Amino acid sequence: QTGDVHAEVVVLGSGPGGYTAAFRAADLGKQVVLIERNQRLGGVCLNVGCIPSKALLHAAKVITETEEMAAHGVSFGAPKVDLDALRSWKDGVVGKLTGGLDGLAKGRKVKVVRGEGVFDGPNMLRVTGAEGETTVSFDQAIIAAGSEPVTLPFIPHDDPRVIDSTGALELADIPKRMLVLGGGIIGLEMACVYDALGTRVTVCELMDQIIPGADKDIVKPLMTRISKRYEAIHLKTKVTAVEAMDTGLKVTFEGPDGTTTDVFDKLLVSVGRRPNGKAIGLDRAGVTVDERGFVPVDNQQRTNQGHIFAIGDVVGQPMLAHKAVHEGKVAAEVAAGHRRAFDARVIPSVAYTDPEVAWAGITESEAKAKGLKFGKGAFPWAASGRSLSLGRDEGITKLIFDEETDRVIGAAIVGPNAGDLIAEVALAIEMGADATDIGHTIHPHPTLSETVNFAAEMFEGTITDLM
Ligand code: FAD
Repeated sequence: QTGDVHAEVVVLGSGPGGYTAAFRAADLGKQVVLIERNQRLGGVCLNVGCIPSKALLHAAKVITETEEMAAHGVSFGAPKVDLDALRSWKDGVVGKLTGGLDGLAKGRKVKVVRGEGVFDGPNMLRVTGAEGETTVSFDQAIIAAGSEPVTLPFIPHDDPRVIDSTGALELADIPKRMLVLGGGIIGLEMACVYDALGTRVTVCELMDQIIPGADKDIVKPLMTRISKRYEAIHLKTKVTAVEAMDTGLKVTFEGPDGTTTDVFDKLLVSVGRRPNGKAIGLDRAGVTVDERGFVPVDNQQRTNQGHIFAIGDVVGQPMLAHKAVHEGKVAAEVAAGHRRAFDARVIPSVAYTDPEVAWAGITESEAKAKGLKFGKGAFPWAASGRSLSLGRDEGITKLIFDEETDRVIGAAIVGPNAGDLIAEVALAIEMGADATDIGHTIHPHPTLSETVNFAAEMFEGTITDLM
């Protein structure tokens, strides 16, 4: 059965996973159709995720850095924030990237079909768009439908004062007092932005630490800094009720101090994301989807149906753009008949907060939980010349080594630019580098990258005193 359009490879969803897969498959000679329900390509990451958040975080960093320079002898006046101009700058950054994707698709003859796509059979998708319905028949499909924010039943999500990360990035106003529900990466990044813009921020986290995936010692410098800046950070606390009142949102907390209430102007709900796997008619294609909406895949990104692949947030954690991109390349290459599999040893995670928190490979707490024999080198940035000259000495670079082979198996870094620094260790882990390889690599002085070198030397015992 042939649809209105036929594709050798159809890709459902144009986020970082989807557009990468579509472009790669086209570059490998496949005739590709890309289905997207939004007007703009790029998915969550480009439109309402990674990119707009980083644009706003840059503005936040400039604001807080100029504030803090006063202590080093250079004072500026209070920042004047023109919210409309800031918003349009952020939108401009997004527009450049998403518009660029249209050109890249055209250049490769990738046909973009706009509308909501659902499977209608093992080789057919039905797309409902503004201009009606289009059927797309396909030889192979790549599902890249992504994820969306989790909502909670006791929260009045239709109240405009309750927002998710997309609402927070819209930058409608600067609330006086905002509660960030969820102390994970996304919530804390947005907290960082609104704090810099002048909002008094409270964070509420269920676990006993913020960014629960990272080691406690690595999160501590961030915790120390934001504890000073924010109004409150409630750990081991859950929100049990939210009442919309004329005067604000009345929130009930249950935590170590018992049951308390407080009233906020805005509530940012950032308690996680759920996959979109349940809303695309996978049963009609015979593709298995789990209870939560994730689509199980093998190491070639194939679903239980050999000609249908899945990538990105819809296949599981970590829900990160660079993982989606990597999986997109694997799926496209396998679809084009190449021998390829997902065999990455590490997927780095980064919170672009101030300071940044980054980790890759095994964390120290995981290594302990697994009973691994490991050693570590942890270099405090207070002994880094570059760190001190930035006026920021709270960072730590920690490397985890296999005790038997001395190979590096994990890294965690906190401090300004930790997200960039972690890439070196990700490469080292992929290449099977050991402590001597890192310790004997000449790093440029004075840079923060030296802290990676010093951490390896600390493990080896070649640095014992720090000054
Ligand atoms: P998505 O980007 O979710 O794209 C899926 C696309 O599929 C969407 O465009 C959607 O409209 C479309 N779609 C879904 N269903 C259908 C359908 N039925 N028909 C047609 N189209 C459909 N990750 C990082 O690595 N670094 C960061 O700094 C970072 N920051 C983030 C900040 C925020 C605020 C958020 C929310 C996320 C952030 N992420 C970050 C996560 C990152 O955005 C996701 O991991 C990434 O976008 C996943 O890519 P994807 O291709 O799987 O899907």
